[in-house]
Amino acid sequence: MSDNAIVVCTWSAGRDGLPEGCEEILHIGRGLAAAMGTELNWLALGPLAASAGEIAGRYGVAHLHHAEDAKLDPAGADACVAAIAAYAETHAPGALLVHQTLDARVVAPRVAGRLGRAVVMNGISIEAVGENVQVTASAYGGDTRAVYEVGGGSVLSFIANAAVPEPAEGAALTAESVSLDLSGVEERVRVVEPARFEGPRLDDADIIVSGGRGLGSADNYKLIEELAGALGGQAGASRPLVDDGWVDSSHQVGLTGRITRPNLYVAIGISGASQHMAGCSAAGTIVAINRDAEAAIFQYARYGICGDALEILPELIRAAGAR
Ligand SMILES: Cc1cc2nc3c(=O)[nH]c(=O)nc-3n(C[C@H](O)[C@H](O)[C@H](O)COP(=O)(O)OP(=O)(O)OC[C@H]3O[C@@H](n4cnc5c(N)ncnc54)[C@H](O)[C@@H]3O)c2cc1C
Repeated sequence: MSDNAIVVCTWSAGRDGLPEGCEEILHIGRGLAAAMGTELNWLALGPLAASAGEIAGRYGVAHLHHAEDAKLDPAGADACVAAIAAYAETHAPGALLVHQTLDARVVAPRVAGRLGRAVVMNGISIEAVGENVQVTASAYGGDTRAVYEVGGGSVLSFIANAAVPEPAEGAALTAESVSLDLSGVEERVRVVEPARFEGPRLDDADIIVSGGRGLGSADNYKLIEELAGALGGQAGASRPLVDDGWVDSSHQVGLTGRITRPNLYVAIGISGASQHMAGCSAAGTIVAINRDAEAAIFQYARYGICGDALEILPELIRAAGAR
């Protein structure tokens, strides 16, 4: 195993028992490893689906390192920080890459602090510049981009919301067990009761119909739910609807909500702010309904209807129901 490998770090299982966003980060890692002439490794903490070996093979991973420990099931932030830092001290990675989940916002900066390395959050893309890497990151809540050049061993956290091209075929890897001493770890944050949401996750939906402030009132949100139901999809929302208590936060799409990748995304009464689009721009097809022809959402939409959502929605619900 070479020093300076690019290492993708994951913990906690999402859909299919695989860590959330692992393919997107492996895709970014594979490009960086190739540009830097080094290998790509994957450090998986805690329980891991059997399909991980197959995914690792398809993304050109050289070693799938797997650490299991009672403290990693489920993995608390203190255990993750200790495990990744211990691994980095032994394996001297060229960079540690993580998918920016809520947990990663806590873990990534602490790992960097413990290792005395740089950290870049909100990463969007990456390039190799000699022995350094240049990361383009979203800044000021998504309104602008910042470019950072950082040295070897940095911790890089990505908002990976772009569609990943179909990976090449590759032989499945067998996970290699790595032993990391977590005996001294005491979790300092105790989850008293995890938030529970009913129904399937927005992140996995194939069709999403989202409503925004243009709906005018909380009562009108039921039209969004009706259209989503008629299309066999799920209902999403822009952040003001969550802030104002029209819907719970499991429906929020965007930078500070869910990062979704449906085939069809219907945005109704949503202006198309960058923070919202961060959660849906990887959709296969975006359809927008907005009464303002200049609304930014039309720049992203393949199909647009310029008009009053409250007049158009009942027609769409009828048409979808008649299908
Ligand atoms: C750090 C940060 C993080 C953020 N994270 C998120 C996030 O995760 N998700 C998110 O959504 N936002 C997020 N925001 C907020 C974001 O910047 C926008 O303010 C928000 O997305 C706007 O929501 P909206 O489009 O529903 O409302 P508005 O911007 O008010 O737009 C309403 C739209 O509805 C149209 N409209 C009005 N009436 C009608 C009608 N009758 N028929 C049809 N169209 C109509 C208007 O023309 C307008 O385009 C974040 C902001 C910051 C600073």
